[in-house]
Amino acid sequence: MSSLKGKIAVITGGTRGIGYAVARLFIERGAQVALCGRSEESASAAAQRLGSSCIGIGCDVSNPAAVDALIGRVAATWGTVHILVNNAGSTDDGLLIRMKDERLERLIQTNLSSVFYTCRATAAMMMKQRYGRIINIGSVAGLRGNAGQCAYAAAKAGLIGFTKSYAREMASRNITVNLVAPGFIDTEMTASFPEAQRDALLSRVPLQRPGTAEEVVAAVAFLASDEAAYITGATLTVDGGLGT
Ligand code: NDP
Repeated sequence: MSSLKGKIAVITGGTRGIGYAVARLFIERGAQVALCGRSEESASAAAQRLGSSCIGIGCDVSNPAAVDALIGRVAATWGTVHILVNNAGSTDDGLLIRMKDERLERLIQTNLSSVFYTCRATAAMMMKQRYGRIINIGSVAGLRGNAGQCAYAAAKAGLIGFTKSYAREMASRNITVNLVAPGFIDTEMTASFPEAQRDALLSRVPLQRPGTAEEVVAAVAFLASDEAAYITGATLTVDGGLGT
């Protein structure tokens, strides 16, 4: 697959899991990477583990001013952003009947509104350079729904509509916008699931195992590459068949 030498990438939620694995592969392919997490300390620690082509910045992506500051710092350091991976996300499961407003709002802010903010903050740079690769990390929950995840699934489904719309808005400037929808992937997010929930989920996966972060990263890297130049507005599921 094509090199990412000379490319500047921003990966939200890169302190662990899928985002960290994306950062590692992008750096191996020659990119310079800015990753973020909610605390500056854990973002810097993750970046240090990845070496001198990586910087870590504290940014809560649910806060639009913080996102503007994040993109501003990357632009001040490296001049621009070529690749944006909107990976930061979190779950907070519960039946809707028991969900308080603030939990619902936090889920929508973190998983959906954050992507409006990062895309808006990078739009002028990408338009000016007539190049951009945006990859949003959705979820199979946004395709098929999941009991206990009304807000999370709605946010992830919303990302699909956003991806298709923003792809149309930005296509004339050679900016592609796509979405990767992982299924059940072994990360800290799913490690906290109770045994019974893991077993129930796994029983619905035709490939009969959880996926790895690296298997999601392969799809992200493809969509960031020159080989994917003619793909935009697409949803690529990486789910062992769970969503089919
Ligand atoms: P993890 O919980 O392992 O990592 C989540 C990352 O997001 C961390 O780096 C965390 O950083 C960051 N993050 C969370 N909230 C915020 C915030 N408000 N601002 C900035 N960063 C934030 O999750 P995964 O790696 O498993 O998930 C990555 C993405 O993939 C998410 O969007 C998730 O919804 C999606 N996904 C995952 C699946 C799975 O099975 N694992 C399945 C389907 C989709 P920190 O805590 O340091 O702030």
